[in-house]
Amino acid sequence: DEPRGASNLLFDRGLRVFPDGTTRVTVERDPVPRYAKAGRGAYLEDVDGNRLLDLNNNFTTLIHGHAYAPIVEAVSSQLACGSCFANPTEHEINLAELLIDRIPSVERVRFVNSGTEAVMFAIKAARAFTDRPAIARIEGSFHGAYDWAEIGQAGTPSTWGPPEDPVPVPLYAGVPAAVADDVLVLRFNDIEGLQRLGDAADRLSCILIDPMPSRAGLIAADSDYLKAVTASARRSGVLIIADEVLNLRQGYQGASARYGLEPDLVAMGKIIGGGFPIGAIGGREDVMRVFGTQQAKGSLPQGGTFSANPVSMLAGYIAMQALTKDEFDRLERLGNQVRAGLSDTIKRHGARFSVTGAASLFRIHPKENPPREFRQAFCNGDEAETLMRLHRHFLASGILLPNGAAASLSTPMGVTEMTMIVDCFDGFLSQANQR
Ligand code: PMP
Repeated sequence: DEPRGASNLLFDRGLRVFPDGTTRVTVERDPVPRYAKAGRGAYLEDVDGNRLLDLNNNFTTLIHGHAYAPIVEAVSSQLACGSCFANPTEHEINLAELLIDRIPSVERVRFVNSGTEAVMFAIKAARAFTDRPAIARIEGSFHGAYDWAEIGQAGTPSTWGPPEDPVPVPLYAGVPAAVADDVLVLRFNDIEGLQRLGDAADRLSCILIDPMPSRAGLIAADSDYLKAVTASARRSGVLIIADEVLNLRQGYQGASARYGLEPDLVAMGKIIGGGFPIGAIGGREDVMRVFGTQQAKGSLPQGGTFSANPVSMLAGYIAMQALTKDEFDRLERLGNQVRAGLSDTIKRHGARFSVTGAASLFRIHPKENPPREFRQAFCNGDEAETLMRLHRHFLASGILLPNGAAASLSTPMGVTEMTMIVDCFDGFLSQANQR
């Protein structure tokens, strides 16, 4: 018998206390999860003694990599003065001012603890503002765990319904039918399909949209499509909620500004917490007023025991301040380098792969042509198997490429790491071609 590693032993204990062994369905396992011991900059150390280039970055959160020194220092001294209060602190104002200053559609902010909550409260705000119950959302995109946001994010091809009229697929058994009744599922980059938004408008509070939904393929929205979304929404009094929980990292002003979307509300999270739990709802001053308590129409109560805790606020402020325009430009150049390098490698090998992504994000698809929307990006069994072999090949070369080959860069990375990634992929394709 092989000696059992430290991760195996921990997983044995995990299996005894957690259904399925861990507490996040998103934890990768093959078949045992890799338990983390420490992280430094762009690299992660696991308890089995491996050191890996981390392209997961806690699901794109750690834009400065692990243990970013300015955050470690500031948070350590904050901890010595208290980690949370029922009182507000200056740190929440600093972070809110920064976000309002940078993101054109954000005039007011409320803080929460996760992206799920940010999306949930953005939807509630849209309902309260419009006095309408339903939402529209895009097929296959991921928006966290609020019931209405979950409908239509998964399923298998047999459950999706016809492409021109996607079915609101519930995520799990027992979802109240009323939830699905209040969700209109639209197809990404489908201008004609927006007719359905107009038809349902008298019940629709908002359209929830991510300009480059990662789970649905990390595919950019066409600018014509976003213009059409904006026009239909404005015509029907439907608010636009941009889910930028992941994609705020696409630029100094975020993703909506980059792709030409003009949202009324923006859900944020991940990088704005500097590695600590966070979510935020931002948006138009008049819409955000629903969070106030002095509303004629009644107001939307939003609190949260840990919302705006000074640790997340301070860490997030430092992380965001360090993301200057120059630093975003540098990340973008690294992203361009790695995406071009991967694409050239595919061409050279004549391999059946393609690459999508932008800024500090990339995704490798086991598909000859880059997918244009979720249904095209969906992997069949063989394709999923190919991605698993790719994942293992990267691991054997010291690189943690997340499952699904959707990767994020961090500021401690440089040209050396981009070359490592491209060389590793080249090695994989050389091997695959030999067989
Ligand atoms: N929206 C998007 C686009 C996300 O990527 C995520 C998290 N991956 C969420 C919402 C939910 O965020 P959280 O995990 O912080 O609840």
